[in-house]
Amino acid sequence: MAEDSIFSKIVRGELPCYKLYEDDKTLAFLDINPSAPGHCLVIPKDQYANIDDAPAETLSAMIATVQKVGAAVKKAVGAPAYNLLCNNGKEAGQIVFHVHFHIIPRKPGDGIRFGFKHENMDEAGFQDMQARITKEMAG
Ligand code: 5GP
Repeated sequence: MAEDSIFSKIVRGELPCYKLYEDDKTLAFLDINPSAPGHCLVIPKDQYANIDDAPAETLSAMIATVQKVGAAVKKAVGAPAYNLLCNNGKEAGQIVFHVHFHIIPRKPGDGIRFGFKHENMDEAGFQDMQARITKEMAG
């Protein structure tokens, strides 16, 4: 069993949070350092480091919670949209190794940028990438 995450301590009530929703499998609460008003996190009550470790049914329960909480957050802060973000692994910016989805409400002109860069790829490059990834999935 992995070392207890800070989020597992929140699940057990050993650390406080601004709880928004819970059911038997998931918990949603406000992020302590919000990127926008209403920024919140959806976590499974059981600890899995990231998406790759979590069972599909756990991720499915998390998405059901995202739908409930995301709709309420949008209404509460008057945001027409939100980004659903998962930093999956250290190099992707993950800091807390207890899988979680960020719900970040978005409004026109809010100035939030996620810093995607877009590069061109030629036909051979796409074909090579497709072959490499599908080969991995074939096992
Ligand atoms: P990530 O692992 O995806 O980079 O982000 C972890 C997120 O958890 C950050 O946005 C951070 O503000 C939030 N966070 C870290 N510790 C706590 C905490 O103790 N309570 C709450 N509510 N949020 C936290």
